[in-house]
Amino acid sequence: MDLGISGKWALVCAASKGLGKGCAQALVREGCHVVITARGDEALQATAAELRGINPAVKVITVAGDITTPEGRAAALAACPQVDILVNNAGGPAPGDFRTWDRETWIKALDANMLAPIELIKACVDSMAERGFGRIVNITSAAVKAPIDILGLSNGARSGLTGFVAGVARQTALASRNVTINGLLPGPFDTDRLRTTMAGAAQKSGQPIEAVLASRRKLNPTQRFGTAEEFGAFCAFMCSAHAGYMTGQNILLDGGAYPGTY
Ligand code: NAP
Repeated sequence: MDLGISGKWALVCAASKGLGKGCAQALVREGCHVVITARGDEALQATAAELRGINPAVKVITVAGDITTPEGRAAALAACPQVDILVNNAGGPAPGDFRTWDRETWIKALDANMLAPIELIKACVDSMAERGFGRIVNITSAAVKAPIDILGLSNGARSGLTGFVAGVARQTALASRNVTINGLLPGPFDTDRLRTTMAGAAQKSGQPIEAVLASRRKLNPTQRFGTAEEFGAFCAFMCSAHAGYMTGQNILLDGGAYPGTY
C-alpha cells in the first residue's frame, strides 16, 4: 500500500534508537524527509547513515539535543523546513516508590512525558491546519491503559498528555483540516530501554538476564516482545494519507497483554 506521504517532512523525536528509530525507518521507507533527534550524537549519526541507506532519495537531518528542554525543541523545529508529521517521543521516567519522589522529580517527568509533546503540538498544529495536512503521533505507554505500580511517574505524566490530547484532537479547527493527533501505546518492545529495565530486575532477583527475559516473554500471549520495526510500521500508517478519519485515539500495541475486552 502506498501510504501517500512521500515528500512530507517528519520530525521524529528521540529517534537514534528503539521505537523512535523504528518510526523514522518506516517513514523514510515511505519517502518522507526526516529530522531525527537524540541527546547523544554518535548513535544519532549512525542512525542517520542507516536511514540514508534505506532511502537515498530522502533528506535526513540530525539535531543533537534534549527534546525535553525549550532549547532542544527550538533546535529541532528550526531544522525542519515544515512539520507535516510529528512523532513525539522521549525517554521514560525511572521506576520507583512514589513516597520518595519530590516535586522536582515530578516536574522532570511532566516536562519529559507531558509538557514537551504539548509544546511541540502547540508549535506545529496551526500551520498543519493551514496546509490541510498534519499527523501527530505521541508515543506513550500501555501504562496509560493499565497502570504499572512502580512506573507512577509515567502513569501520571502520560495520562496527563493523553487527557489533554483527547480534547485538542477534537477541535474542529484541526480535525476538519485533516490534522490528526493520536497516541501509540507500546507494551513490551525489545529495545535498549526494555533490556535496561530487565537488567535491573535480573540484578534484584539474582537471575541471569536471559532467564528474566524468557519469563517476561512467556507472560505475553504472543510469547515474545514486539519489535521496533512493527512499531514503526504502525506509526507510519497512522501518519499516512489513509488515516485522516482517526483522531483522538489511543492504540495499544502489546501483543494482547491488556486483558480487557474494551
Ligand atoms: P530506548 O531504546 O532507550 O531509546 C530511547 C531513544 O530516545 C534514544 O534514541 C535516546 O537517545 C532518545 N532520548 C531519550 N531521552 C531523550 C531526550 N530527553 N531528548 C532527546 N532524545 C532522547 O527507548 P524505547 O524503548 O524506544 O522507548 C521510547 C519511549 O517509549 C520511552 O518513553 C519509553 O518509556 C516508552 N515505552 C517503551 C516501552 C518498551 O517496551 N520499549 C514500553 C512502554 C513505553 P539519547 O539517550 O542519546 O538521547
